Amino acid sequence: MNAVNGIVFRIQKFCVNDGPGIRTTVFFKGCPLHCAWCHNPESQNAGPEILCYPEKCVGCGRCRNVTERDGDFVCYNDAKAVAGKPMTADAVMASVLRDKPFYEQSGGGMTLSGGEPLFQFDFALELLQKAKAAGLHTALETCGFTTAENLSAVAPFTDLFLFDWKETDTARHQAYTGVGNERILSNLVLLNDLHASVVLRCPIVPGVNDRPDHFDGIAALADRYDCIERVEIEPYHRFGEAKYAALNRPVPSFAQPTDDEKQAWLAALSARCAKPVRFS
Ligand code: SF4
Ligand code: SF4
Repeated sequence: MNAVNGIVFRIQKFCVNDGPGIRTTVFFKGCPLHCAWCHNPESQNAGPEILCYPEKCVGCGRCRNVTERDGDFVCYNDAKAVAGKPMTADAVMASVLRDKPFYEQSGGGMTLSGGEPLFQFDFALELLQKAKAAGLHTALETCGFTTAENLSAVAPFTDLFLFDWKETDTARHQAYTGVGNERILSNLVLLNDLHASVVLRCPIVPGVNDRPDHFDGIAALADRYDCIERVEIEPYHRFGEAKYAALNRPVPSFAQPTDDEKQAWLAALSARCAKPVRFS
């Protein structure tokens, strides 16, 4: 029997926004950041967690003995689910490789996301190596807050980095994510030195980082570093709110941007940036 290598909270098929073509995205548990706007709050803690939606529960009692160790459990009425299942790299790859014909037809492959995939570094590296050995295109979505050693080790097996850049002002970065941005910036420079391919992903939250000086900062990075192919704007959305309540955590209270606001962000960034800018 294989050893347990990692904790995954979702394997999502037929993704089209996590790199080129049709992809399978593997969502890792655990993240060193705690972004105030995170729409995957169940990703942040390293271990499995139970999400409860009491308004959907019909009291059948079938989940009486369910614990965090039951990573496959999803209530038939979507009233309770366990986020986080221990899996071996071979088990994840067996699921990913089932869709290989779709990757081949579309130029797709496997994306690691989370959470922060490099928070489970050994597991991430093993998956990337196995995917490359199987001939798949690989992408790694990262918050960039990891060691230079870890990033250097995964780079040869990663065709595309989806690299987050959340806030140019490091004090504000600290306030909203729990860490400053210095290490993230030095890791972006490292990827540039390694001649990696990078998409700079920028979550934009009204009233937080939709500022001209942050847009200037994004454009300066994109234009300075050859590794950055394009900038992607990730407009804040409220789809994750129900999950905060389901985890019994305070729900974020940011405003959802209007379509006009989003278009204004796109125009403002496009005007500043020589590289392509689009929504993710
Ligand atoms: S299985 Fe679902 S519906 Fe039944 S008691 Fe549990 S949460 Fe409620
Ligand atoms: S880096 Fe991503 S997964 Fe981690 S807390 Fe921030 S938004 Fe959530």
